[in-house]
Amino acid sequence: MLAIPTKPRSLTRRSLPLRGFRMLAIAAVVIPALWFGCLAAYDRGRLVDDLADDVRDRTDIFYQHALNVFETHQLAADRIADLVAGRDWEEIARSDSLRATLQAIRSRYPQIQGIWLADASGLVRLGADILPPRPIGLAGRDYFRVLQSGAADYALGGLVRGAVLGGPNFNLARRLERPDGAFNGAVITTVYPAYFSDFWASVAPHPFMMSGLVRGDRMVMMRVPAVDPDAALLSGDSIFARNVEGHDRGLFRDIGSIDGVERLYAFRKLGRFDAYIVHGVGIETALRVWRHDLLINGAVAGISAAVLLGFALIVLRGAEREQAAHYLAAETELARAAEAGRRDAAEAHAAELEGFNAGLADAERAARASEAQFRILAEHSSDAILRTGLDGIRRYISPSMFRMTGYRPEELVGLPWTQLVHPDDRPILQVALARLLGSAPYTEVTLRWLRKDGSWVWIEGLSTLVHDPGTGLPEEVVTVARDVTARKQAETALADAMEELARQAATDALTGLANRGCFDNTLEREWRRARREERPLALLLLDVDCFKFYNDDYGHPAGDAVLRAIAGCMQGAIRRPGDTAARHGGEEFAVILPNTHGDGAIQVAEAIRTAVAELALPHPRGSAEIVTVSIGVAAVLTTPDTTPASLIASADAALYAAKSAGRNRTVRAAAIETSVGRREQPAA
Ligand code: GH3
Ligand code: MG
Ligand code: MG
Repeated sequence: MLAIPTKPRSLTRRSLPLRGFRMLAIAAVVIPALWFGCLAAYDRGRLVDDLADDVRDRTDIFYQHALNVFETHQLAADRIADLVAGRDWEEIARSDSLRATLQAIRSRYPQIQGIWLADASGLVRLGADILPPRPIGLAGRDYFRVLQSGAADYALGGLVRGAVLGGPNFNLARRLERPDGAFNGAVITTVYPAYFSDFWASVAPHPFMMSGLVRGDRMVMMRVPAVDPDAALLSGDSIFARNVEGHDRGLFRDIGSIDGVERLYAFRKLGRFDAYIVHGVGIETALRVWRHDLLINGAVAGISAAVLLGFALIVLRGAEREQAAHYLAAETELARAAEAGRRDAAEAHAAELEGFNAGLADAERAARASEAQFRILAEHSSDAILRTGLDGIRRYISPSMFRMTGYRPEELVGLPWTQLVHPDDRPILQVALARLLGSAPYTEVTLRWLRKDGSWVWIEGLSTLVHDPGTGLPEEVVTVARDVTARKQAETALADAMEELARQAATDALTGLANRGCFDNTLEREWRRARREERPLALLLLDVDCFKFYNDDYGHPAGDAVLRAIAGCMQGAIRRPGDTAARHGGEEFAVILPNTHGDGAIQVAEAIRTAVAELALPHPRGSAEIVTVSIGVAAVLTTPDTTPASLIASADAALYAAKSAGRNRTVRAAAIETSVGRREQPAA
């Protein structure tokens, strides 16, 4: 039996449980929406960062490739200059053997598409192609004027329409001189833009790509998309003038003045050549997939949220109406009971209170119905949804997991979450859980799952921690997972292709050793590492003895074979994985020996020198009637005031000393601080 009650304070018009439920319904929409927004913004930022890395990497590959091409042209032009030295132009113009040599060089090097010889007046006198009967004059060409003026021995031409073959091309030219040093014409080699554009397109097949080779004076040598030779000079307010001119390398964003496309560009100056590689990729196209995903996912999430919210509101309204009716009746009855002071009235009130409790139960049922609705949405989403307890046991898995793994949810629920995950990837899960418990808002993992058919599927999961609303303690991990196998495979294939191209761009075509560009980069890198780790660094410079005579006696192809054989001796003599053998240029080679003292470096040098001598290649005009090499060795403990250049200078001085002392020997430079151009000690 109850005492006569006063009106309870909690019986205001809207009770706390219902208000809490309303807040919950709103939070159920707002929190996922905020989460979605954050993820989208984070994703976009990451895509732009990835794009910048990509553009920079590709520019480095283009840079190595272009440097290789230019150096090959220079080498070919030097050889041709050697061949025509001392001959007069009438003899050159008539020489069938000279034309055959030009043709042989052109067909051997795909990067050289034309070779011409022009006399001092600019008249083309011989070419790898048969010349038309009308005379062709190159006196007006920019590169010809530079060579004629004596300003440089080597010049790059801008984009022109070919005088003989018609199509657009650009040229590299080398000055020819008479014995008295007077100008005697030029060797001109031709490159078709397609040689570059085909390579670029194979490395970076991007629809809104803009890539170019531009001379320092803003004259375009070639560009993708193609440019008209008459419009090849860039203006003073071009992207090039604004961002590139005067810098060695960099990364920037700008809007194309012709097509209005915003791109991310990287550029790099081509070593000692006055030209730049510029490469840009359209930002919007790179983000197209992201925008498409955003639109689809946003629409699905928006519609789901609206349906859920609508459903929750309808249920809420009903519960409110019912509760209000209970309040009203209870209040009236209470008033009456208070007035009459009668016990049976109080009992009636107790009954009303029971009714009120029933109303609350209805509201709870409604909440459960809403959860069921959510489950329907989860089960029809193409992404899989997983709920995992903090004990690592899978509690719920939506049916989409079947499509990804071949397992039905009921086969997976109740198992530990590491089950079927690739053993190498399991630690990722522990790290992710630790991050979530360490209050990261969400965490992303990509790992391999074993499919029922025995193959592996790559799954990307985005997880968040759900807390118990009552206690506020972490309760379970909810993960949205999707199949990213196709993307992963594409990424691996791309990485392999990039690696192969980078390897090719760093290799010297004749000997298979590292080329000059790769040598420069490696020396710079090893120098920094030696400084950091306070370890010694050694360098060998090697030059073939009396090699000019060898070429004169046996011809260039035989000379090339000797260079390949010497490269083989070098590769046989270096032992450690960090050692780098490179072709430094012409018939000079270099070996970088990290973490090596002078004595060790001498041993390697001697091993190379004796290996070459043991080949016993006949060379009657050589230093010992066989082919021999001279080697300069420098080893150093790097200090803040020494540089890679001082190491090279030191080894070069030692090489010079080896030559002066009679060739076929190794000479070691003294300590680098004191050695440049001073004391050298013969070692053999
Ligand atoms: P030294 O003993 O003083 O070194 O005499 P050398 O004749 O070797 O003189 P130098 O080092 O200046 O000679 C360079 C010669 O090497 C010029 C050129 O004929 C030859 N050469 C340079 N590059 C190549 C190449 O790629 N192939 C061939 N076959 N010969 C080359
Ligand atoms: Mg030399
Ligand atoms: Mg030499």
